[in-house]
This record gives sequence, structure tokens and C-alpha cells, in this order.
Amino acid sequence: MDAQKIAVVPGDGIGPEIMQATLAILEATGFKPEWVYLDAGLSAIEKGLDPMPEATIETIREIGIALKGPTTTPKGGGHVSANVRLRKALDLFANVRPAKTLPGVKGAFAHMDVDLIIVRENTEDLYAGIEYQPHPDVAQSIKVITRQGSRRLFKYTFDMARKQGRKKVTVVHKANIMKLSDGLFLEEFYNVAKDNTDIEADDVIVDNCCMQLVTRPQQFDVLVTENLYGDIISDLCAGLVGGLGIAPGANIGVGCAVFEAVHGSAPDIAGKGVANPTGLLLSALMMLRHLGRHEQADRIMNSVLRVCHDGKCLTMDLGGKANTKEYTQEVITCAAS
Ligand code: NAD
Repeated sequence: MDAQKIAVVPGDGIGPEIMQATLAILEATGFKPEWVYLDAGLSAIEKGLDPMPEATIETIREIGIALKGPTTTPKGGGHVSANVRLRKALDLFANVRPAKTLPGVKGAFAHMDVDLIIVRENTEDLYAGIEYQPHPDVAQSIKVITRQGSRRLFKYTFDMARKQGRKKVTVVHKANIMKLSDGLFLEEFYNVAKDNTDIEADDVIVDNCCMQLVTRPQQFDVLVTENLYGDIISDLCAGLVGGLGIAPGANIGVGCAVFEAVHGSAPDIAGKGVANPTGLLLSALMMLRHLGRHEQADRIMNSVLRVCHDGKCLTMDLGGKANTKEYTQEVITCAAS
């Protein structure tokens, strides 16, 4: 099993720091595959390469599994998002983002027992990258929703919900306004739901969903939605459970999966050694489970839960004083005891 290869993309900003921390924890607890380091983002540009080099995409396709740090994307002009490119090139159609309250993590919503999974469509919608500027004062973005893309997303979501013992899937949409695009998405959801009657299916309009999430998040179990709504809602849910520092994710395709935290490259704290590696670490635990290494994933998760509950060695984003290295060592020590 340990002859396994895993593609590693450290990425930009805090990426290399949290990647080093995460790999240290995985190795200390017994997972020592061959890490295949790949360029993407600013590190690739500095070498004169594309922000998501073809060689990186092809190696991930070959290996089938990658652990990825965040990559920086310029606002407005500049290069296209390396992430969007990767997700489209590898057809990583489902972005799975769990949001779960961790014991001991403080925050405005800490009293709420949040435990939900967001499944975000990852290749279509307004992120399809079709934009025009027919006139200097007019810019247009095309929203693309396909029946086939929606159908495979919903099939994946119901299957995942069943495997994880979830009881309800809620589709998030704005079909009252975007009657064709979101209308098609909603219609296909209920078509797929008819084949999955063991799981409750309902729908909610995206603006109401946001309000419901901050007032009664417990009513939700699995949320499935389009690319843009999913991007926003998953950051909102990260805030509900204590912040971006602890929010994990997985990009799932056919025969290929890329695991990465919800957060970005956090340029404001990059290089200071204070970033919280938990988001990437929990993404790596999703990867271990994907590989069937449940026992090791449980051991590391229990260690994270104990460190959080104990509260003495938390990173600054969670109100603690520990730096990345101190937190990492604490998780390793706890996992060994
Ligand atoms: P961000 O997620 O990088 O940061 C938002 C805030 O959260 C910042 O204050 C940051 O310090 C904090 N934060 C994020 N992760 C943290 C961690 N692990 N520990 C402690 N604090 C953390 O969002 P942004 O500033 O809007 O984006 C920065 C760059 O990242 C942009 O170029 C954006 O395009 C890119 N981005 C990349 C990805 C990705 O590669 N998957 C995802 C989102 C954003």
C-alpha cells in the first residue's frame, strides 16, 4: 500500500507551509507513499510555465490522486484560475465540502451543532469561463447548466449521502428567477430523486438557504448546488464552524480525485508560520478514506478533536497562540499517545 504514489501540489502563499505540516502528520502516523511534487500557480509562473502546467494535469491524471494547496488567482485581469483549469481538464465534477462543528472551537455559532456536507457542481455554471465584452461599457458572463452535468452530480450526491448514512439531500437554486438554467437544474434533481426514494429530497432558494443556515443550520444534512452558490455557501458554512482554517474539501471525478482545503492562499499571513493546517489536514483525511485507510484517518481525526477540545494549542485564527509547527507537533504527539 505504501508504494502508492500521491501527487502533491504545494501551491502559493500559505500552501507550502500547511502542506509540509500535513505531510508531517501523515508520515508520523504511518502513511509514507511516494509524494510526487508538482508545480502550479505562482511557482509555475516563476519557472516560465502556465499557472496550471499541462505536465501537472497529466501527472495527476496518471496517478489519480492529488493533495493540493491553494493557488493565487489575480482579480479582474491576469491568468485564468489554475483551479478552474484543473477541475475542467480532469472533469472533477463534484466538489465535496463537509462543515462540522469541532469541540472547543469558539465562534459566534459555536453553540450550534453543525454537521452538513455541501456538494458543489465544479465545472459548469458561471465558472465555465465564457465571458464577452461586446462594448467597453458592457460585460457578459454566460451561465451554463447541462442536464448531463446536473444528472451525474445528483447521482453522485445521493450515492455519497447513502454511503455516509445521511438522510436528506436539499438542492439549492434560484429557479424562481433563472427559470431555464436553474429550472433545468431543479427539474433534473427531482428526476434523480425519484430513483433514490430511501433518501428525503427537498429544495430551497439560495437566499433563503443563507438565512436558514445562520439561524437553523441543523435542519440541513446534505446540500447540493451549482458552482457559484456552492462556492459562497461553503465559505459561509466554514464561518459557521469556526473559519476557513478548518474547512476541508475534495474534488471528485471519474478515476481521479484532488483533495484541497476550502480556503485560498491567504497572502495576508503567508510566510509568517501561523497558518492553520487543519483544513488541508482534514482534506488529507478525506483522501485516506478514499484510499480505504479508515483506521489511520480515525486516529488522526481523534487527535485533532482532542487538540481542539483541549484548546491549549490552537492556531491564531481559532483564538489560540500556537504557530503552525507547534500545532502540528501537538497533533502528532496526541496521535501517538
Ligand atoms: P483566503 O481564503 O486566502 O483568505 C481569507 C481569510 O482567511 C484571510 O484573512 C486569511 O488569512 C484567512 N485564512 C485562510 N486560510 C487560513 C488558514 N489556513 N489559517 C488561518 N487563516 C486562514 O481568501 P482570499 O484572501 O480571498 O484569497 C487569496 C487568494 O487565494 C486569491 O488569489 C484567490 O483567488 C485564491 N483562492 C484559491 C483557492 C484555491 O486554490 N483552492 C480557493 C480560494 C481562493
